[in-house]
Amino acid sequence: KYRLRYAPSPTGFLHIGNTRTALMAFLFAKHYDGTFIVRIEDTDLERNVDGAIESQFNNLDWLGIKADESIYQPGLQKYGAYLQSQKFPRYREMAEKLVQEGKAYYCFCTEEELDQDYQKQKSQGIVATKYNGQCSCLTTSEIEQNLKANKPYTIRFKVPNNHDWTMADLVRGPITFQSKDLGDFVIIKANGVATYNFAVVIDDHDMEISHVVRGEEHISNTPRQMMIYDAFGWEYPEFAHLTLIVDETGKKLSKRSGNALFFIEQYRKQGYLPDAIFNYIALLGWSPKGEKELLTPPELVSHFDEKRFSKSPSTFDMKKLRWINSQYLKKLSEEDYLTFIKPFIDSSRFNWKTKHQNWIDHVLKLYQKELEYGEQINDHLGLFFEPQTLPLEVVINLKNLDDFTKLISYFEKEIRNLEPWTVESIQQLIKKTGVATNSKGKNLFMPLRSFTTRAEHGPALADNIFLLGKEQVLKNISETTK
Ligand code: GLU
Repeated sequence: KYRLRYAPSPTGFLHIGNTRTALMAFLFAKHYDGTFIVRIEDTDLERNVDGAIESQFNNLDWLGIKADESIYQPGLQKYGAYLQSQKFPRYREMAEKLVQEGKAYYCFCTEEELDQDYQKQKSQGIVATKYNGQCSCLTTSEIEQNLKANKPYTIRFKVPNNHDWTMADLVRGPITFQSKDLGDFVIIKANGVATYNFAVVIDDHDMEISHVVRGEEHISNTPRQMMIYDAFGWEYPEFAHLTLIVDETGKKLSKRSGNALFFIEQYRKQGYLPDAIFNYIALLGWSPKGEKELLTPPELVSHFDEKRFSKSPSTFDMKKLRWINSQYLKKLSEEDYLTFIKPFIDSSRFNWKTKHQNWIDHVLKLYQKELEYGEQINDHLGLFFEPQTLPLEVVINLKNLDDFTKLISYFEKEIRNLEPWTVESIQQLIKKTGVATNSKGKNLFMPLRSFTTRAEHGPALADNIFLLGKEQVLKNISETTK
């Protein structure tokens, strides 16, 4: 039975890195008709951020990464709570069990004492300092005295001597860790709260997680977690530690990475489509078989293969993401595109709500195949809403063309009387003008476009003229020829 989880700490909002973890766990689970779980790891009380949980779920939902089990939709009772702060008594009880079995012990060392000892180790040239194990030797009566005196304590896990752990990582293959490199570590902090390494094992066991998918920064935690599984006599889940996502300078992708947006919310605001982001993020540290890279979420679910995780870091490529988004925008039905694009129009700049519905839809449709993301529509609308000015040298160059005067006066005269005012009739007129004045290609279109729209570039000329309207076009011509 495949049960995978995404276990964010609510210390921040959903970003590219944690989305990739969630997405891979989701694809993995869904490929095998398994269960995808979102569990909130809020044991680091001081670091929890207000609104982070809601934002995580909200953005995951938007991307279509829907949890089968979560705080909003718990699974069977035996799986336990989906918010770690609701399980403090359970962690405590399990830690005490280990203490009774001699696998963990109370540690009364103060921060200062620990610090001093680590300094001492460093001065002896030890780089990977570790706890010296002092409190593991306390007698029962010493422990009782300390407790009576209300001395604060942590619970430490006793790392077994002379032991190797080999993790069969699905990404990198087997990785072996030795106990001599690891000091006894804290499982319950002085404030009574479990540490990540302890809570994660209890939860993954309670929730019957089959595969743990997470970032490579957790590789070094894994042996600690494996020894906790051993201590309870539980079986390990399988592990897949995804490689880093880096920016174009090779550094781990972060808020500060130059070109790339970091948070999913930012992409949403700029007008990216959820399926495009889903598609792109699925290609970070994983690749489908074959050449095809544009895959919808259901296609990605069916193509998913846990043997195809990449062993090297993946570079976040904003250009490629934009290209993928433009492909998804092109695929939208006209109706879906119009619904999608309208909220991105900058209403403070363009007074579009007073315009006729058909007119605005026509304008917007001209750009469906050009946009990389929604907000870019505002780079185009000025042509229809704001006065345009043609650079003077462009006007002069055009006026110097052979037959220019003939061309523009013919067109002006004809368009003044054009009936009916349709894209087709304007198209016909452009053709007719070409024939009558013996102009072709650039020599026909450049002067016409520049003098009718007062812009050098724009969408299909007949549509552009049609949408500006006869009055505006005549005005443009007369102002430019003056
Ligand atoms: N809460 C941990 C994190 O956000 C999860 C690690 C794990 O998946 O085990 O990094």
